Amino acid sequence: MPELPEVETVRRTLEHLILNKEIVDVHFLYPPIIDGDINTFKENVIHQKITAIERLGKYLIFKLEKSAFISHLRMEGKYLICQKEDHISRHDHIIFELDDGHELRYHDVRKFGRMKIVDYYTYQKQLPLCQLGPEPFNADFQQVYQQLKKRHIPIKTVLLDQSVLAGIGNIYANEICYQMNLHPETPANRLTKKRVQELLKVASDILNSAIEQGGTTIHSFSSNGIDGLFQVQLKVHMQHTCPLGHDIKKIMVHGRGTYYCPVCQKARR
Ligand SMILES: [Zn+2]
Repeated sequence: MPELPEVETVRRTLEHLILNKEIVDVHFLYPPIIDGDINTFKENVIHQKITAIERLGKYLIFKLEKSAFISHLRMEGKYLICQKEDHISRHDHIIFELDDGHELRYHDVRKFGRMKIVDYYTYQKQLPLCQLGPEPFNADFQQVYQQLKKRHIPIKTVLLDQSVLAGIGNIYANEICYQMNLHPETPANRLTKKRVQELLKVASDILNSAIEQGGTTIHSFSSNGIDGLFQVQLKVHMQHTCPLGHDIKKIMVHGRGTYYCPVCQKARR
């Protein structure tokens, strides 16, 4: 599942490829991808230029001249830039025809992704974006500390809660706990103020470093599509040993595969 850095990479890549192109038509091959009425969606996007592509947490926001829509890739959604005559896959669900003759296709094997028209100016205050917490980069430390104080559940689980911090998924939650030498099952409310400050710093650093690594791939996307997935150097997630050579343990925390180093991550506060 793409997390903040991967979605940011998709954003930058699309910006590079389709900014200022006009949408001349749109086709709905699998309409449930659109949250809401497809005719309304069509009326809102047709004959409009894509003027900006923004991101909030794991959401992409496509800004057009007079309207805007959001897109969430969920598990496996991706964008393809195709020629009109290119074979249409059964996993291509929404097709935007662009004025330069290309097509922007939304491709999603699992069909979990969604697009929705939002208000151009107030989308941040509308559902679902209004439910997002701040991203680690600009989070108010006191606010996050107060949120963690209220939660007795594992810190790893809280890191996945988009209403506390937006953008972190399973992979980076595992990596953040490792970087802090923190046991992933530590109750969130046991973190001291100092540790919460450290958490925001570590989360920002890890996400920024992944964004930088993704940035190097922006110009090299092929026909495989734009899903933002790239090879990031991970220290514990899906690894056998940690950087210090200890064996990694995999446990389930709140139903999610959690990788940690029992030697490095003894700290429970
Ligand atoms: Zn270790």
